[in-house]
Amino acid sequence: MPELPEVETVRRGLEPILDHAIVACDVRRRDVIRDRCGDHPNPRRGRIDQCSLGIGSRVIGLERLGKQLALVIEDDEHRVRFIVIQLGMSGQVSLIDTPRIPDAKHVHVVWTLDDTRRVCFRDARRFGGVTLLNDRDALNECWSSLGPDALTITGAQLRDRLGSSARMIKAALLDQGVLAGVGNIYADEALYRAGIDPRTRCDALSGSQITDLARCTREVLRAAVRARGSTLRDYRDTSDQPGSAQLHHRVYGRAGQACSKCGSTIESTQIAQRTTCWCPICQC
Ligand SMILES: [Zn+2]
Repeated sequence: MPELPEVETVRRGLEPILDHAIVACDVRRRDVIRDRCGDHPNPRRGRIDQCSLGIGSRVIGLERLGKQLALVIEDDEHRVRFIVIQLGMSGQVSLIDTPRIPDAKHVHVVWTLDDTRRVCFRDARRFGGVTLLNDRDALNECWSSLGPDALTITGAQLRDRLGSSARMIKAALLDQGVLAGVGNIYADEALYRAGIDPRTRCDALSGSQITDLARCTREVLRAAVRARGSTLRDYRDTSDQPGSAQLHHRVYGRAGQACSKCGSTIESTQIAQRTTCWCPICQC
């Protein structure tokens, strides 16, 4: 499932579309257009108007919060709207300049730009979706349940968000309301880098441990952005290329293997219904 580094890689990959106008939009599956972020698919066919799809507007910004991505579009009357793209489990956004659309079977929305390039939203498993929002207030509301972005989270913010919670730190890191963008991969990697056992209760962490964890979270995510994200299964960047961050995972997916630092066997357990891997020596 795409986490912050993968979504940020997609965001950067779309930068070449800035200042270009959308001249057409082909919605091939209506049910990927959602009423609100996180809602069920839109059952009301025919409600989508052309303006909200971006036709006739220019792309003036590309925003991201956590795993959420939004194209900011502006029409001739300077009206600003937002196209929120959620990648879900297997969503991909590609920017293509060829007539043929690769893997067209799973491409659900195609925007055509004024220079004939196209932006395709593809999602084989369809947990993702596209939400059209008519103003900044609607975007703020859509993203209001999310905590601070994990790429820039500070120690003070993380301390504030964790509060005196008694739950395990791994479960808290997965909570998008605590901080936005971390999923199972980077939660395990950040805890390893910080030397914190994932089962530790939040209220048992010292102030300096939380500060360290915030720094390690930023470092792990930045390194993964530099590696253009992790490709375990479906994820591809906007040029349809896999990322390479998976080559640098130290604990995620390595249960039973030797820790690269101390040689101990990486352990695993379930926390918040997710497989969690850690080193019993380096993280205690
Ligand atoms: Zn170790």
